[in-house]
Amino acid sequence: MTLPAFSLVRPQTVAEALRVLQDAAPGQAKVIAGGTDLIPNLQMKLYAPQLVVDIKGIAALRGIEWSPGQGLRIGALTTLTELERAPIVREQFPVLAEAVAAVAGPLQRNMGTIGGNLCLETRCLWYNQSEFWRRALGGCLKLPMPNPHAAHPRTICHVAPGGKFCWAVWSGDSAPALLALDAEVEISGPRGVTRRPLRELYKNDGMDRLALGHDELLTAVHIPARAAGRRGTYRKLRIRNSIDYPLAGVAVAMEVDDQGICHAARVAIAAVNPAPLLVPQAEALLVGQKASPELIEEVARAVTRTGKPLTTSASTPEYRREMLRVFTRRALQACWDRRDNVEHERDTGD
Ligand SMILES: Cc1cc2nc3c(=O)[nH]c(=O)nc-3n(C[C@H](O)[C@H](O)[C@H](O)COP(=O)(O)OP(=O)(O)OC[C@H]3O[C@@H](n4cnc5c(N)ncnc54)[C@H](O)[C@@H]3O)c2cc1C
Repeated sequence: MTLPAFSLVRPQTVAEALRVLQDAAPGQAKVIAGGTDLIPNLQMKLYAPQLVVDIKGIAALRGIEWSPGQGLRIGALTTLTELERAPIVREQFPVLAEAVAAVAGPLQRNMGTIGGNLCLETRCLWYNQSEFWRRALGGCLKLPMPNPHAAHPRTICHVAPGGKFCWAVWSGDSAPALLALDAEVEISGPRGVTRRPLRELYKNDGMDRLALGHDELLTAVHIPARAAGRRGTYRKLRIRNSIDYPLAGVAVAMEVDDQGICHAARVAIAAVNPAPLLVPQAEALLVGQKASPELIEEVARAVTRTGKPLTTSASTPEYRREMLRVFTRRALQACWDRRDNVEHERDTGD
């Protein structure tokens, strides 16, 4: 589990970082922020870049700014701990505060950044293993490995053999919360600085997860002012509540008036598809309605139709699909009852 050899550069400005990325051949440079995802992946030899570009020294990428007109701007290097503790996030965007508080453990949250969390590598039981382990199987579709003795062809997907699609799962927690808040990402690259909806960052392909060029950097996340004050909550299934990646995650953000009528609603899921996804039917079903068990069940069913859990993770697809339904029900009820941003029951699936 040693690191592969690479050169390290430490640019101090975004322009400098972009120059370095542009000069590198596609696939030969990797950006490192907190390193809590990248370093274990390098140790497992999931990739071996010639160059690692450490962006931690770029001061312009830090900080959280709030303006009632512009909304919230979160620099890409803002750590998850900083986000979790920021009063503006806790008070106005509770779904995000809950989601980042559920990432890994305190050590990873102190080092891990929001940019890194949104650009995570996808995960799969058959991929996130040591080189020795993977070689015994001849690798997989995402990372073929030469082994003349392997029983399978070298480019097989062990999750869906025969298919040409990689089902490695999007296993980040902040993305569904940010999707539920209509967030946009700021991308800096050779064509300047652009902003696009967060949902357009994800390709829903386990092998090619991000719509981000090799010469581009995610520099900030924006949440529009209209999303401030939405009730919200995030529910997450994992083996160990103290540290693990999600096996299923549901984020809900809603606007509900004093009569209990819903005026805006977003439901997003993670850890069951190769991308974090908004559930398109949820808004149509919920807006204009009051809470009822039948309505909540109907939305929960729409969520389970969007989630496609397969044998990529350390729990069965059936259990993870069922927990999507349970979490959706609990999250919607909590939002309607205004039990947001409070210590909720340990959602371990019981
Ligand atoms: C034991 C353990 C448990 C974990 N559990 C969870 C969990 O429960 N939930 C969860 O969401 N995550 C989890 N993680 C992953 C990780 O800790 C977090 O997702 C963290 O936020 C990643 O941020 P980082 O800055 O460390 O990313 P890095 O490791 O530095 O980078 C991650 C990826 O993003 C790219 N990247 C980073 N910043 C940028 C940028 N600005 N622009 C473009 N690309 C960029 C890197 O090239 C890399 O591919 C866990 C990690 C460990 C080791």
